[in-house]
Amino acid sequence: MGKKLNANQHLLSALQGGNTMTDQVVIFDTTLRDGEQSPGASMNAAEKLRLAIQLERLGVDVIEAGFPAASPGDFDAVKGIAGKVRNTQVAALARASKEDIDKAWEAVRDAAMPRIHTFIATSDIHLEHKLKMSREQVMEAAIQAVKHAKRYTENVEFSAEDGSRSAPDFLCRLFEAAIQAGATTVNLPDTVGYAMPDEFGQMVSYIREHTPNIHQAVLSVHCHNDLGLATANSLAALKAGARQVEVTINGIGERAGNTSLEEIVMALYTRREHLGLVSGIKTREIYPTSRLASMITGIVVQPNKAVVGANAFAHEAGIHQDGVLKNRMTYEIMEPEIVGLATNQLVLGKHSGRHAFKQKLSGLGYELSDEDVNRLFKKFKELADKRKEILDEDIEVLVAEEILRVPDKYELDYLNVVSGTVAVPTAMVRLRIDGQETQGAGFGVGPIDATFNTIAKMADTRSKLIRFSINAISGGTDAQGEVTVRLQENGLVALGKGADPDIFIASAKAYINGLNRLEYLNRNPSLSAEERGL
Ligand SMILES: [Zn+2]
Repeated sequence: MGKKLNANQHLLSALQGGNTMTDQVVIFDTTLRDGEQSPGASMNAAEKLRLAIQLERLGVDVIEAGFPAASPGDFDAVKGIAGKVRNTQVAALARASKEDIDKAWEAVRDAAMPRIHTFIATSDIHLEHKLKMSREQVMEAAIQAVKHAKRYTENVEFSAEDGSRSAPDFLCRLFEAAIQAGATTVNLPDTVGYAMPDEFGQMVSYIREHTPNIHQAVLSVHCHNDLGLATANSLAALKAGARQVEVTINGIGERAGNTSLEEIVMALYTRREHLGLVSGIKTREIYPTSRLASMITGIVVQPNKAVVGANAFAHEAGIHQDGVLKNRMTYEIMEPEIVGLATNQLVLGKHSGRHAFKQKLSGLGYELSDEDVNRLFKKFKELADKRKEILDEDIEVLVAEEILRVPDKYELDYLNVVSGTVAVPTAMVRLRIDGQETQGAGFGVGPIDATFNTIAKMADTRSKLIRFSINAISGGTDAQGEVTVRLQENGLVALGKGADPDIFIASAKAYINGLNRLEYLNRNPSLSAEERGL
């Protein structure tokens, strides 16, 4: 048994001992499950594993690795993570059915600290229109599900989907029964993001007062951000006695997203005297984790996002700058270093050697094999020939492109574009499709249009390009361009990302990455929104 479960057990035994006000908050990260339900944010198994390893490093207490019954890809990803992560609990989601729970256990059983998380909807709206079950039937299904999960592991979480819109008395009876059946965590989700902070806090208090055996389990909350209140609602719940929060990196997730991990953790940290609560998160890993999640999912963090947005620590206004220079406390409530934003990073260039490069990689959290380091170093040298300075962001992009991507169906081998005031924009492309080399050429209204037309023809795709955007990763005209595309086909949406100092190459990479993700989604159809739950 590792240290994290001990933290969980300490919490449980403290609660069971009647000490209902321990100050330890269990951080349950669901970036890999609920976060993945963000439109277009599909991740393959290798990408999920990389993010899971970073979440372990960040110090989350529980990683919800996926929903094994949802698709074979999800099953494999959870199994891969369970086999690798050692210091963090790994949870698998399952509907309240024997088959789902069996699959969840099959996927998560190799984990050092496995958890089965089972759920059923509990609001009258869901009972009537979705489940077509009575409250008694839901109660029975919940009890059977928890008991079944309990045969596999001690560590069972039960969630009442759409809990915030459920009848409080029914919820209390249900939680009481689930705890009696063996649930060690009971979770109250605000599935549709409807709750208000005062009301949600009162609901948590009500549950604590009216569920006789509530002290035998950790009470958890899971909030959505449809009204921008996910963090506020989660904090209100913690103040009212909840001791687990379900969160995602960068707040990604279904629709408007989930409660954001970095906001909760930094609120607990910055206002610790006000709240009196602590988490086990290593705050200096927050920024690297945010970058990695953004790179892997393709979801760009909005510049004004709290804690991790590009502007979060940029004091633009002159008066603020002056104030910050005189004394940081005037306008800065957190130091950027505390969330892992390096203010004086070691910059690499074309003369940097393999040793410095390797050191930089491990400083960024990448412990890679010699073979991988060599491969990356070659790419690094190529990039350094084109640019004076290589920043951390550039290296992260290299890692994402070279190491995280599993062998893809489509790979870019060669691109040549011709454009200008007199030339007809033309692209010549060589691709490898399933390892087979193939060439093509085509025209367009501009060089990027020509490139995309040519690739689309070669890949024989019917997908539609619905969004295209370019960002510079760092300053200067030699900065790497980071291109994001959004592709759509048969109701499926995939994001693609690519980076290169040459924006045409970056665009081609992004488009091809999008095609690969779409291909993955086609092979791994996910559940409908109704079936996905909480
Ligand atoms: Zn959710």
